Amino acid sequence: MDIACRRDTICAIATPIGIGGIGILKISGADALRILHSLFVKPNGERPAAFESHRLVYGWIRDPETGDPVDEVLVSYMAGPHSYTGEDVVEINCHSGYAVLNRMLEIVLRQGARLAEPGEFTQRAFLSGRMDLSQAEAVADLIHSRSEKALSQATRHLRGDFGREVNRWRELLMDLEAQVEAHLDFADDLSDEGEPELEALLDRVRARVIPALERIVSRYEEGRVLREGLSVVLVGKPNVGKSSLLNALVGRDRAIVTPMEGTTRDVVEDSFWVAGIQVRVLDTAGIREKPDAIESMGIERTLRSVDEADLVLWILDHSRPLTEDDDRIHRRIAGKRMLVILNKTDRPGPTGVEAARSRYGLQGDILEMCALRAEDAERLKQVLERRVLKDILLSAESTFAVNRRQRDCLARALEALERACALPHPESAPELVSEELRAARKELDALLGLEADEALLDRIFSRFCIGK
Ligand code: GDP
Repeated sequence: MDIACRRDTICAIATPIGIGGIGILKISGADALRILHSLFVKPNGERPAAFESHRLVYGWIRDPETGDPVDEVLVSYMAGPHSYTGEDVVEINCHSGYAVLNRMLEIVLRQGARLAEPGEFTQRAFLSGRMDLSQAEAVADLIHSRSEKALSQATRHLRGDFGREVNRWRELLMDLEAQVEAHLDFADDLSDEGEPELEALLDRVRARVIPALERIVSRYEEGRVLREGLSVVLVGKPNVGKSSLLNALVGRDRAIVTPMEGTTRDVVEDSFWVAGIQVRVLDTAGIREKPDAIESMGIERTLRSVDEADLVLWILDHSRPLTEDDDRIHRRIAGKRMLVILNKTDRPGPTGVEAARSRYGLQGDILEMCALRAEDAERLKQVLERRVLKDILLSAESTFAVNRRQRDCLARALEALERACALPHPESAPELVSEELRAARKELDALLGLEADEALLDRIFSRFCIGK
C-alpha cells in the first residue's frame, strides 16, 4: 500500500454484520464531511448548514440519487486531528441488518469513498501519530482478547504504558549515544578523564536498561500464555479415559466416549477457563502399536500436537497393567512439561502410583482421579492453577506481556547492549560502543514503528478486522 494513496476517504461497516440493535458505518478521510452533507437530512427534511464536531445528531439518511429515505440514524462528525484516525471521521449509527447496512455502505461508496482494508482505520491512526505501533497492535489484541487477563494486558498496551517505557529506554540510549559521540570527537582532549566516563555510561545501561529488557524477554512465554491461552494436550493409550476427562473439564459431552479402542481418531479441541486464563485442551487419538489407516493419521496429528503444546497431561490407567503402549508414549513425551494422571482409581486395579513412578522414574506428584467425577476435574483445575498458571499470573502483574514481534526487537536490543557492556576495554573502542547503542536503539525504534516498512505494517494490520 502506498502512503500517498492512504489519504483517500475510506469507509467500512464497523459492527458485526447481522441482525442487531445498531450497526455503525465509519468513514474517514478528507471527504468524510462532504459525504455526510450529501446524505443526511434533519427530521424536517432540511440539510443542516454545518455539523459541530463531536456531537451526535439525529435525522435520516437519504439516497442522494433517488431522494429515498434509507434509515433513521444518529450521526457524529469528529474533526481531525481529534479523531481515532487523526483525520475527519464520520460515524453513522443506523439499524443493524444485512440490507440496511449494505445499502448504507453502497450509498457512501457511490459518494466517492473506498472500502477500507482490514485494520486501515488503525493504520491511519498510527501513520498520523495518534498511537505508536505497540498501541496499534494492542487494538487488535483487545478485540481478540478471550480472557480477562489478556484483556487487561491489551488495555495496558493500548493506554501506551508499554510504549512510554520503551521510549524512556530509547531516550536514555540516545543520550548515551550522544555522549559517546562527543567522547569520540574529543577523544584526544579527554583521554584521561574520558575513560571512567565511558564505563559510567555503560553502568547506566547495565543498571537501567538491561535488567528491564531481560525481564520482559525472559517472561515472554508466560505473556504468550496470557494472550493466547495455555494449550494442553491429553495423551494416553486407548481407553485410559482421555475423552472422558476432556468432557469433565469442559463440562459437557464434547468427545465420544466408548469402551472400544481407537474411537478418537482425530484431535478434538475445546477450552475452559482457570483463574481468568483460557486453557485450550486437545483430546488426541490414543497412541498404540497396530492402528488402522485412519487411526494412524490421527496418531500423526497427536504427535504433532504434543510438540506444539505448552503442557502434556499424560493419563495412565489404574485398572489395567502398564504396557509397552505406555512406554512408547513416555518415550515420545519425554522432556515436555507434563502432569501425570492416574485415572480410574475408582476401580480396583494393578497400577498404583508407585508402580508408575518406578517404571518411568517420575519425580513430581501423580494426580489420582476418576474422570467420570466432576469434582475430580475441578481438583485437576486447581492443580493446574497452583502448579502451572501461578507463575504466569504473577508475571502478568509485574511485567508487560509482549507479542512475538516485540519480543524479537527487545531480544536483539538486549544482545547489542550486552555486546557493548562485554567489551573488555570500551574506552579503547568507543566507536564500537556507539555502534551497539545505536543498534539497540534502532530495535526500539522498530518496536514502536518509528521505522516500520510497508511490508511489516501490512502484515501487522492484516490481523485486524475490516472496520477497525
Ligand atoms: P479414551 O479412549 O482414552 O478417550 O477413553 P474414553 O474416555 O473413551 O474412556 C474409555 C472407557 O473408560 C469408557 O467406557 C469410559 O466410561 C471409561 N472411563 C473413563 N474414565 C473412567 C474412570 O475414571 N473410571 C471408570 N470406572 N471408568 C472410566
